[in-house]
Amino acid sequence: MRINGKTKIVGILGYPVEHSLSPRMHNAAFKHLNLNYCYVPFLVKPEQLESAIRGLKALNIVGVNVTVPHKESVIAFLDNLSDEARLIGAVNTIKNEGGVLTGYNTDGLGFIRSLDEKNIQIFNKRVLVIGAGGAARAVGYYLCKEASTVYIYNRNIERAQALSNHLFHLKQNIFAVNDDFIKNDILSVDIIINATPLGLRPDDPPPMNVSFLNKSHIVCDLVYDDTPFLKGASTLGCKTLNGLGMLLWQGVFAFELWTGIQPPVSVMKRAITNRKS
Ligand code: NAP
Repeated sequence: MRINGKTKIVGILGYPVEHSLSPRMHNAAFKHLNLNYCYVPFLVKPEQLESAIRGLKALNIVGVNVTVPHKESVIAFLDNLSDEARLIGAVNTIKNEGGVLTGYNTDGLGFIRSLDEKNIQIFNKRVLVIGAGGAARAVGYYLCKEASTVYIYNRNIERAQALSNHLFHLKQNIFAVNDDFIKNDILSVDIIINATPLGLRPDDPPPMNVSFLNKSHIVCDLVYDDTPFLKGASTLGCKTLNGLGMLLWQGVFAFELWTGIQPPVSVMKRAITNRKS
């Protein structure tokens, strides 16, 4: 990679950020296109977020991704929001245009694109989202546009109810559900999406009892790797999808926002799929 006086900087703000696959994904695309950009990780503590955002302007940074735990709190420090980011209530991409910072959310659209890629249709389907955090909000926003019914299941039921209320203007058939629903009504659901971090660590429990699934279910996980939850579902004959496609496509849309150029998707995909090097 060539760094010189004209190099443009993009990156990711998070805490932690060391595990992020985004630097290798975006830098592979810049290299392939011979674009003079460099994508770097910025470890930003919550109490330093405001200073870091002011720094984007001072340092003429072209744009950044935003990850845990800043996706919601960053909104307070931005100049503009896209319609999606405003309705979702979370930002994962910022673009700096002459010192004016606009927040976008490409997570939800990235997830939907990853479903398309695997021929998983959500139109008129009944979908259960497990989790009620930032990722569930982003995914839920797009599900509400297409699915017939959306169920939100979260360990903190008040947060599930709050998300259901937040999205109610988009879909009246949205419900916060509890353990009884998972036990008794899961067969009425077509698609199940794990939007919690459960599965990131090998000793994590599954986000719901796998034995309640059957092969008619499509099971998705936003965690990048095939989690024990996905493996268990696959053993039962379910179609499964991990979060790698969502990571790829949210990155593709962010790249387009920053550069105005369509990135080489296959190069980005290879960079995050072949992680040995
Ligand atoms: P978040 O805002 O912190 O929300 C986490 C959610 O998971 C909350 O609903 C939380 O429940 C629940 N949760 C956390 N720990 C749990 C546990 N031990 N047991 C049960 N529920 C638990 O995080 P997020 O940004 O939504 O991210 C969620 C996951 O999606 C992460 O694994 C993240 O890596 C992944 N993600 C992937 C992509 C991608 O591109 N593939 C993009 C975004 C996010 P409470 O409300 O009860 O706390």
